[in-house]
Amino acid sequence: MPGDPYALAREAMVEHQILARGVRDERVLAAMRGVPRHLFVPPGYERAAYDDMPLPIGSGQTISQPYIVAQMTALLEPGPRDRVLEIGAGSGYQAAILSLLCERVITIERLPEVAEVARANLARVGASNVEVHVADGTLGWPASAPYAGILVTAATPVVPEPLLAQLSDGGRLVAPVGGREIQELVRVRRQGDRLVQEPAGAVRFVPLIGEHGW
Ligand code: SAH
Repeated sequence: MPGDPYALAREAMVEHQILARGVRDERVLAAMRGVPRHLFVPPGYERAAYDDMPLPIGSGQTISQPYIVAQMTALLEPGPRDRVLEIGAGSGYQAAILSLLCERVITIERLPEVAEVARANLARVGASNVEVHVADGTLGWPASAPYAGILVTAATPVVPEPLLAQLSDGGRLVAPVGGREIQELVRVRRQGDRLVQEPAGAVRFVPLIGEHGW
């Protein structure tokens, strides 16, 4: 965006935090360059928006570290015609990244006040192909299933069964699975009736709270 005071900070973020750690997917890199992350952090935090860390967004929740957003997005392999489900809208930043890469994004947030912030942030950047719903995301969002991609952005003890049921054939699910303190990022790919799971490194997320979470 012309006149964006954070354009250089954003380019440095992509180069030093994301490219340098091995995310090479050009579409993902373009999306990380394209979304003004400083519009998704609380007022007063703009200068820290491009730092290599998660930041608080209120209500005890966080916006994930830029690299983790890029890594999870690359693992999801979002396609231009895909319908994608995100669990944990938070600031709306991850949904804004996905909105540039897919046809339609449905994001679920448990806390109404957080969902309001996500909606406002997404409207501000003109992400018109994103819907924010207030619900228990561990149940998925059956009304628009199946999904080519499902991204869980809160820590869960197991992958919620309803989400696996809402994954299309060939679809990918990415989630932090494990304990309260530390989790393993996993990608599950549906191949017909088979679910193929791969690990992708250790991460740390706030808990997924719901019927099929904590
Ligand atoms: N993706 C967000 C960060 C998410 S932080 C971003 O880009 O900013 C995790 C979010 O998941 C929090 O906002 C939390 O309230 C939400 N959450 C926790 N349990 C949930 C559930 N069962 N369903 C939907 N959202 C949930």
